[in-house]
Amino acid sequence: MHEDGFVRRALPNRLCKVLAATMTKHIYADFNGIIRLENDATHEYLDICGFGTITDLNKLKVKLKEDMRLTFFEPNDVQVDAIMHFYPSVKDTNCPNGKWLGKYRPENIIDSILPNQKRELCCFKCDNVFSKDKGLNFQMRCPNCNTEATYALLPPSCS
Ligand SMILES: [Zn+2]
Repeated sequence: MHEDGFVRRALPNRLCKVLAATMTKHIYADFNGIIRLENDATHEYLDICGFGTITDLNKLKVKLKEDMRLTFFEPNDVQVDAIMHFYPSVKDTNCPNGKWLGKYRPENIIDSILPNQKRELCCFKCDNVFSKDKGLNFQMRCPNCNTEATYALLPPSCS
């Protein structure tokens, strides 16, 4: 009876963990964009505000949320599981209101065998492909449905 109860309690939890691990979305990232924050010596932070990353987020319909877990990879190089957090104080001209960073422990970086692939920036909502003719920029909106090209990266307060 005790053992049976244990199994019933333990299985769903283990199953959730297994499912969570296998369902983590794999998103392209440029690992040159690693940031260290002054008050945190144990973690690194991946700046994921690049077009390769936006392309994958839009294609997979992943809109960033606090505490979301994603696997970031650089093709045929490295990958790491990271937790997403939004930092209003980390900003640049493309992201004047703050940035999403992927937080991870450097020792969790592993080799990646995920291949590179051709990427096209498509609209998060209607899948319209953005033309590269005039270049891509962070202010673009979809000519079809007016959704921001960077919709997946909008700050939590805009959701
Ligand atoms: Zn659209």
